[in-house]
Amino acid sequence: MKKQFIANKRAEVEFRTRLQEGAYVSREPSGNELLSELTKRVEKARIIFRAHEQETSFSPFLEIGAERGQRSMLLASEFRAQGFMLDLSLDSLREAEALRRPLKLNKIPQSVVADAYNLPFPNNSFAFIIAFQTIHHFPDPEPILREVNRVLAPGGVFILDEEPIRQSFNVRLWRRPTILRWWEKILKATILLHFLSEIGKSETDAGIIETSFSLPTWEKALNVFETAKAALTVFPFGPTETISKTGQEKWLNPSLPTRILLKLLGGNIQAICTKSPNKRRSYKLQAKHLLPPFVCPSCPPHPLLEQRLGSWYCLTCKNTYPVKDGIPILIERTLRQTLYPNA
Ligand SMILES: [Zn+2]
Repeated sequence: MKKQFIANKRAEVEFRTRLQEGAYVSREPSGNELLSELTKRVEKARIIFRAHEQETSFSPFLEIGAERGQRSMLLASEFRAQGFMLDLSLDSLREAEALRRPLKLNKIPQSVVADAYNLPFPNNSFAFIIAFQTIHHFPDPEPILREVNRVLAPGGVFILDEEPIRQSFNVRLWRRPTILRWWEKILKATILLHFLSEIGKSETDAGIIETSFSLPTWEKALNVFETAKAALTVFPFGPTETISKTGQEKWLNPSLPTRILLKLLGGNIQAICTKSPNKRRSYKLQAKHLLPPFVCPSCPPHPLLEQRLGSWYCLTCKNTYPVKDGIPILIERTLRQTLYPNA
């Protein structure tokens, strides 16, 4: 299993800070363009949450890679859910406050800065976990999904969406920015652009991992969960084929036409995964709105943290975790010194 390097993590944090400062990242949406993009994302998430609200408990929830928090704010504001929005970037999470009104969302859930490989929560904590547009910033989805499965409560649901399926038919000559340059617009009009270049110029220039995974890689990672259902959509408009895990080793195996189209054009994967209820009580039976406690990300037994003088403290390893603008930074000691040396 491949993991992110510290340099990739530092790039994530620094890039999000530059994005927030606006002018320094050219060809990435800002101002009204960004707001309209985020509004679209909220709209898409609302449709997904509505489709699952009958049979799924949304509290407590965890969003991994929440970035500016628009989906978590939606869960808190319109679905009365309680939970955490988590990201490695403190500056991304801080932007939620400024976006709350323009996005017409009234509540911001508790924000947490943490590493997706090392979630600061006990096992079996969350009824609902989401990760959108996040997992392709890691070299391999499996370690992230294993960590998700650890903190997911028995009977809990995990949804990942807006994640790319790798397109084989692309010579990958260069990376293009989100806002295309004039000559890229011409190539787009001739439909060649999609076979010559990949997205993610701003991210990869900054040192962030921007990748996509083949179906076998997705399948191996999704096998972490007892049950999984994947909707595969060919880029850009479909068709969509939905496949459920059957207990067979090779289940993420769409029909031949879909497979060919995915290889040719790439696509999107949405997956809905559940952890088996086992012998333990399912989360629905427990106190619905109790948020899980924080655990220490630095020492192996992961003991509960204690609140002390406005910070979080581990009695076992004696580490103190700072809180900035109400947001705890719960990152393992040496990684935090690299990412947030002044915190
Ligand atoms: Zn500790």
